Amino acid sequence: MSNLRIIGGRVIDPVNNIDEVRDLYCINGKIAASPSDEQKAEAETIDATGLIVCPGLVDIHVHFREPGQTHKEDIYTGTRAAAAGGFTTCVCMPNTSPVCDNAGTIQLIQDSISRNGLINVHPTGCITLGMEGKKLAPIGSLKNAGAIAITDDGKCVQDNQLMRKALEYCKMFDLCVMDHCQDDSLTRDAVMNEGEVSVRLGLTGWPSAAEDLIVSRNIILSRITGAHIHMQHISSADSVELLRQAKKEGVNVTGEAMPHHMALTDECLSDYDSNFKMNPPLRTETDRLAVIQGLLDGALDIIATDHAPHTDYEKDVELDQAPFGIIGLETCLAICLQVLHRSQKANLSQIIAWLTHKPAAILGLEAGTLGEGTNADICIFDPNETWEVSHETLHGRSSNSPWLGKKLQGRVYMTIVGGRKVLENNIILEK
Ligand SMILES: [Zn+2]
Repeated sequence: MSNLRIIGGRVIDPVNNIDEVRDLYCINGKIAASPSDEQKAEAETIDATGLIVCPGLVDIHVHFREPGQTHKEDIYTGTRAAAAGGFTTCVCMPNTSPVCDNAGTIQLIQDSISRNGLINVHPTGCITLGMEGKKLAPIGSLKNAGAIAITDDGKCVQDNQLMRKALEYCKMFDLCVMDHCQDDSLTRDAVMNEGEVSVRLGLTGWPSAAEDLIVSRNIILSRITGAHIHMQHISSADSVELLRQAKKEGVNVTGEAMPHHMALTDECLSDYDSNFKMNPPLRTETDRLAVIQGLLDGALDIIATDHAPHTDYEKDVELDQAPFGIIGLETCLAICLQVLHRSQKANLSQIIAWLTHKPAAILGLEAGTLGEGTNADICIFDPNETWEVSHETLHGRSSNSPWLGKKLQGRVYMTIVGGRKVLENNIILEK
């Protein structure tokens, strides 16, 4: 690993209140504030003039599909996509095949991460055995095997007593429970948001009440157990308000916003394009604006992508048959710049905070800062460069993006993990 001297860039490190043009050194894989003259002289120089230099981005909600669904994505291709999007740390969801409800599967994923991962990846474990919502998974042994949090993401535990028990265990083990908030009884055969558009298109609606009910349930359970519940992919205005009120009361809950819920609405489904079908679904303009407002006033804490790869042949079917989910790692930064920054709603430092030290803090990850002595995980991006999202420019295995064929503004120039360049000028540098 060579030492790096990144010169001329605008360094933004929100947790340390830094936003200024300065040089940054990576020595032996760490951020170094005062390297020796010898180290300075031998370091490789990277000219970041005109670019933003920030901590490597952190996404605590991705699906890398390994083991079992590697035709969609695997640890190698998923971390390629992450590196292309400026992410240096990802937390992958346990709805693999088999699911991560036992230490062996977690170990299998850890082995693949160390062999094939281009960035830092942390696995999560299931709340329930088989993600069936009936019996608790062995939460202690999942933690011992390296699970960084517990979730049944993709599904939601419907049984309140079981969820309460899970929370009590997780509190004991100091683990965060991440919940996909969905009441199943309200979403049977649902395809898209319930509203005017679903009626017009003749598709079964998915009311935001399905999310709001579980968010309310979780707030109540967090209040009585004291356990930390992180509400995944919040999409409804009422859920944002529920979190806002719960936080005022000091309930131990956090929430995440997705770029697609901040950029798109259910109107996008008018052409029955399955690259706009995800769970939870795109909602109304009121919901879209509420999610953005939630981030701005702290009702929501972070941005995550819910990167959910599916192949073309899986997505290229009737809308009601297509699987839920879109990829998100490679378009996240550009979409956030579009909906939050160029719209004058938030400054770069706020956006970078939602994508770095704030998500890291939710799960206690050592990431998301450029502080001296920390791992040199860095993202260098050009907020102005435009590029087209295409099969050629994407680096993951699947290309189920709502922005496929569209031009976006804001592109990652370089991703550095532990002092090693992983992506440079849109080219992945192999291990
Ligand atoms: Zn989910």
